[in-house]
Amino acid sequence: MADTEGLERDVLQRAEPHRPFTRVSTRLDFDAEGKRFGTLVVPHSRNDSAWGSVQIPVCVIARGSGPTVVMAGAAHGDEYEGPIALMKLARALDPAEVQGRLIILPTVNVPAVRAGTRLSPVDGLNLNRIYPGRADGTVTQMIAHYVTTHLLPLADVVVDLHSGGKTLNFLPSAVMHYLDDRHRMDHTLAAVKAFGAPAGMVLRELDSQGMLDTTAEEMGRIFVTTELGGSGTLTRETVEIAETGLANLLAHFEVIDRPIATPESRGRAPTRMMHTPDETSFVLAEDGGIFEVLVDLGDPVAAGQPIGQIHFYEQPDRPPLTYFARTDGVLWCRHAPGLVQRGDCIAVIATDFPG
Ligand code: CA
Repeated sequence: MADTEGLERDVLQRAEPHRPFTRVSTRLDFDAEGKRFGTLVVPHSRNDSAWGSVQIPVCVIARGSGPTVVMAGAAHGDEYEGPIALMKLARALDPAEVQGRLIILPTVNVPAVRAGTRLSPVDGLNLNRIYPGRADGTVTQMIAHYVTTHLLPLADVVVDLHSGGKTLNFLPSAVMHYLDDRHRMDHTLAAVKAFGAPAGMVLRELDSQGMLDTTAEEMGRIFVTTELGGSGTLTRETVEIAETGLANLLAHFEVIDRPIATPESRGRAPTRMMHTPDETSFVLAEDGGIFEVLVDLGDPVAAGQPIGQIHFYEQPDRPPLTYFARTDGVLWCRHAPGLVQRGDCIAVIATDFPG
């Protein structure tokens, strides 16, 4: 039986005296029970559509009392596992199975998905570098601001599904960050393990400014993200990891009552918990050229081992510049396109997470 008294209490506690101004509108009821599809309407007046808008699809599934989980995909428009897994989940999930609330945004950056690009073609902005956004900003800034001021306050748990996009490729991983709050760190670690990807990563970002990750974490939400592959495409395996991982997370937070499908139960190796404790994990190109990777994703590497070399295609007599791992671990991420420029991140080495 649904605990409606609990829901009312829950909603009252979450209700705010007034919500901040936003130009984003929606007719979607976030509180009513059942399953509904709708849109966030972001005004976008332009040459080819005077009174036009960008419309962000949203699905709300709610029943009884329980945690609110906000799940988003395609913050970057060239990452595909998230949107597919979230659309499948939104269509398939029976509200009768839910205890709590799901707010699902399979393509939170629709203009970038339409263009197949990381950044939005509307304003050239990176949705995951401009949080908390601006109410009076561009389309991408308004989306970020709405998520910050209207969705994160509803959320107990935030799941943002990423992949490597066109320029990176990852060992498929559920990802979190180091958190000062030990209690929240332990809760998030448990969620990352429950996801059941080949790897669980505690990541130190090269630059965490303006990320949804940082904003949600600073608001005290449990935040889980992913890196599920990349190269601007997907594989059967990475989509399966995304779908299973989402169901596992919902089971872990008791929003659905299903057994967790561990990697072992799917005939795979257990999730390997890893981290990038400092900047020695990251390898940056010092010169442009053609990148020859010397180890495969997931391969073990030792500090001092060559992991790739960059060839100078206009100077065939010049030897390539070799890049070495600066720490022991495994190759967790690599630059995807053959061509690199000075400053590109060409590899990330992850090491086993202690404890
Ligand atoms: Ca991404």
